[in-house]
Amino acid sequence: MAEIITKDSEEFKEITGWIKRTGRALEKATARIRPGIADEHYLSGEEVCEKLHISKRTLQALRDEKAIPYTSRATNITRANAYAEFWFDRKFENLTMNNVEDFNRSAASGQSDAKLYVMLNTGVGGAYIDKEKLQTGVHNRYGEFGHMTIHPHGRKCFCGKEGCFEAYVSARRLSTEQDCTLDEFFSQLQQENPRFIKVFEEYLDDLTTGINNLYIMCDGNVVVGGPVAKYLVPYQDKIRRMLVEKYSFDTDGSYFSFAQCTAEQADTGAALMFLGDFISNI
Ligand SMILES: [Zn+2]
Repeated sequence: MAEIITKDSEEFKEITGWIKRTGRALEKATARIRPGIADEHYLSGEEVCEKLHISKRTLQALRDEKAIPYTSRATNITRANAYAEFWFDRKFENLTMNNVEDFNRSAASGQSDAKLYVMLNTGVGGAYIDKEKLQTGVHNRYGEFGHMTIHPHGRKCFCGKEGCFEAYVSARRLSTEQDCTLDEFFSQLQQENPRFIKVFEEYLDDLTTGINNLYIMCDGNVVVGGPVAKYLVPYQDKIRRMLVEKYSFDTDGSYFSFAQCTAEQADTGAALMFLGDFISNI
């Protein structure tokens, strides 16, 4: 083994190759295994005792002594989605010596690559990644963009307040509130149904108001994902034009983009968080 490991060392090449392969394996595994919440199966204490041939008392002792090795991490779906988005955006799956250098340089310089992630689902979630990290805030509430007020005393939100972003741009606005599915809404829109056109114009107005507020605050990229996002992709240019009009300074609206993967990718993101921890400890 060489005394000093550089980016040209066999050891370094081997480990970056390994990281690349692990990323691919994770992607494949999570594409194949996608349990819904209702399908998830947790072993009960009795089942664990049965499988390990131990008594309940022994199981409790093992728990108390932390003798069963496992790592756990609590996060929410939006943050896990955002992490996956960040990971794939940094092109880890195409890891080469050059972009490893770029990645390390930007991390070392403390340069900001601030990115806000907004998830448009039946609720509206958010996450903020800066300096390679998911930011959590003082009370672990960073990214609750769904509850910023965009219309004072406006529509009632599930949080109990009025006028929240979520009450205007969640998937519900374009589905249950219109008595249809998202698919039906956008197909009616394409057929130029006047009622749906009006709802959609209002939706885009509210969406761009919220995104503009986020951009004003972070001066970084804003990425929109979640189930509604894939339906909005054909309207990207229109959305950018609206954002240009709403911004107080100069922008071409290119700070706004859609998540590369608009399907749920929370499971991939949660798994990648462990890989990220491992890499940062190399
Ligand atoms: Zn709210």
